[in-house]
Amino acid sequence: MRVREVADEEIGLLYRREWLPEPGHLHGKTVWAVWDGRTARYGVHPGCTVSDGLRTSAPELAAELAGVAMPTAVEIAARGMVAFARWAAAGLPVVDEPTRQQRAAACAECPRWDAAARGGLGHCKHPGCGCTHLKWWLATERCPDGRWPA
Ligand code: SF4
Repeated sequence: MRVREVADEEIGLLYRREWLPEPGHLHGKTVWAVWDGRTARYGVHPGCTVSDGLRTSAPELAAELAGVAMPTAVEIAARGMVAFARWAAAGLPVVDEPTRQQRAAACAECPRWDAAARGGLGHCKHPGCGCTHLKWWLATERCPDGRWPA
């Protein structure tokens, strides 16, 4: 599904059906929406607080999302532990250097990747991920958005 960078305010306008974009995954600064042209799902990026822009354009959605439990640092760490447990159970397989570079290149092109986060370890802001660049080495891991080479 197409990923498109938008303003949080625009996601609020979609919620109010005052803006009907092409279907796709809309990636705002603090919130996201998956819009199929008829219905939408909304969420907040891990570690983010709903922005004032969304509060202004759609206070109902902002209130709804503010009440959704965000992944905490502990939950993100737990995800990392699950990934490492999966990796350990598989015998600690690592990818070769070309594959690691392909994964790195895919993340570098991805709007969800924040290379400067976590002291330079990087941070994937996909709601189902939250990885750092260490994940590029783990043969058992996948991009939650299907952007890495198979
Ligand atoms: S793991 Fe996938 S979704 Fe996350 S930053 Fe990399 S390419 Fe994007």
